[in-house]
Amino acid sequence: MQDDSAGRKFERGEIEVDSTEKKAPETKPKKVKIPRQPMPEQDPKKRSREFTEVALGYSADMAVLEASRCIQCKKPLCVSGCPVGIDIPGFIRLISEKDFRSAVRLLKQMNILPAICGRVCPQETQCEAKCILGKKGEPVAIGRLERFLADWERESDQVDVPKVAPPTGKKVAIVGSGPAGLTAAVDCARMGHEVEVFEALHKPGGVLIYGIPEFRLPNTIVEAEVNILKKMGVKIHCNYVVGRIETIDEMLERFDAIFVGTGAGLPVFMHIPGENLIGVYSANEYLTRSNLMHAYDFPSYDTPLARGGVVATIGGGNVAMDSARTALRLGAERSLLIYRRGREEMPARHEEIEHAEAEGVELFLLTSPTRVLGNDKGRVKALECVKMELGEPDAGGRRRPVVIEGSEHTYDVNTIVVAIGNGPNPLIPQTTPDIQIKRWGNIEANEATGKTNKRGVFAGGDIVLGAATVILAMGAGQTAAKAIDEYLKTGIW
Ligand SMILES: Cc1cc2nc3c(=O)[nH]c(=O)nc-3n(C[C@H](O)[C@H](O)[C@H](O)COP(=O)(O)OP(=O)(O)OC[C@H]3O[C@@H](n4cnc5c(N)ncnc54)[C@H](O)[C@@H]3O)c2cc1C
Ligand code: SF4
Repeated sequence: MQDDSAGRKFERGEIEVDSTEKKAPETKPKKVKIPRQPMPEQDPKKRSREFTEVALGYSADMAVLEASRCIQCKKPLCVSGCPVGIDIPGFIRLISEKDFRSAVRLLKQMNILPAICGRVCPQETQCEAKCILGKKGEPVAIGRLERFLADWERESDQVDVPKVAPPTGKKVAIVGSGPAGLTAAVDCARMGHEVEVFEALHKPGGVLIYGIPEFRLPNTIVEAEVNILKKMGVKIHCNYVVGRIETIDEMLERFDAIFVGTGAGLPVFMHIPGENLIGVYSANEYLTRSNLMHAYDFPSYDTPLARGGVVATIGGGNVAMDSARTALRLGAERSLLIYRRGREEMPARHEEIEHAEAEGVELFLLTSPTRVLGNDKGRVKALECVKMELGEPDAGGRRRPVVIEGSEHTYDVNTIVVAIGNGPNPLIPQTTPDIQIKRWGNIEANEATGKTNKRGVFAGGDIVLGAATVILAMGAGQTAAKAIDEYLKTGIW
């Protein structure tokens, strides 16, 4: 038995509602399931013009009530859905007992970036998709509880720094400071290895800092989680482009092992006429200028970026949602989102599609661009598109979009943001000639160890998987760290 926020007694997963006030005394009290606790959010109208965070997080009472919904399965399916194997029922039970301190410690045993994952992980397709409560109703809000704990820890200034084993005398270089690199760095440091991180940009965090906007993941949250690494003794070198300043082969002379986590930062374009006109951006450039280079913080920062007018974003993933929502916040009169398949096929998180629509992003589905039209100054003035219909499923199981002949139409737009995918960062493969790569330029690495074909060199995250997710990148960093430790101890490749 526990108390809810109103002091009522209840068992896990259900709450007794005393219905005697409304019904005749002989009526039995009715058992009502506790509904999934909604996440408080900022008003869509207000937030669509500001960069402050949209989702506001659970209060302690809400977290305890939500945690009490978990029925503590003997064989918890939720854990099998988590790429880093967090003890989900364990930390949820501790929340329901109001022991937040122990809960956050348990959570962080497997996930060093919980405030980040609690905000951006696609829980609805991972742990929450497997939660048994989802079979007949709504799954436990595992991600929201994760975020609650991480925020509670940070806001109460009680952040633990993971313990570091005695020095092993071995040195590990981490190339790239996204979630894959940061996780590999923490785990290698925990094992007592001396770790140095090399990052091409002027701030560590990878996509978390340059791609995902403030209104979904504030930079201060990423900075706080990166600071833990520094407290563990990890050295972080920014503005350090590996492949230019120093190659992987040169690094191998100074380090015993290297982990490459350089991500998928190479923009993909549509290859349609007019794509070189002024006003067409890759989502990477658009978001990097806004987030990392603070264009969102005008006039404190005067980073050039097209503002206002009508902005069309092409794509249906998280990157497209982030771009279209950023456009509104930067002052667009209208923000159009153009996607060639239907809503069901959109790869973005459903929550983010709903957020975008609530804020005023206009979806144009089953629509595909064919040509960008410019004015006499070489600037974008319109986007020509065709309508599509869904045909037979392709190799990946998604229905293939097919052009409807004669359906050409145009939208008057001033800016176009292309968010149709990203390729692997090419510099390391180009400057490490003997490293084995896959068809699209991704590095070939063993899934179970992160080992590449090159002795001492491991790789993981988007550079291996292609554009994937934060938690998969973290899982790859974790796997590689274990294998690096093994290699450094045994020398066996
Ligand atoms: C806009 C956007 C929104 C996204 N939203 C979500 C989301 O909501 N949920 C989710 O799970 N995933 C999301 N993703 C995907 C997720 O962010 C990535 O899968 C994840 O960041 C990959 O991690 P990584 O460590 O492999 O690479 P990255 O995060 O890309 O980090 C790689 C780092 O390596 C650095 N680097 C590259 N080359 C070199 C070099 N030669 N020398 C030194 N450093 C180098 C880069 O500068 C970068 O900092 C999103 C991606 C984008 C772009
Ligand atoms: S599957 Fe759902 S109910 Fe079962 S332990 Fe996991 S979170 Fe709790």
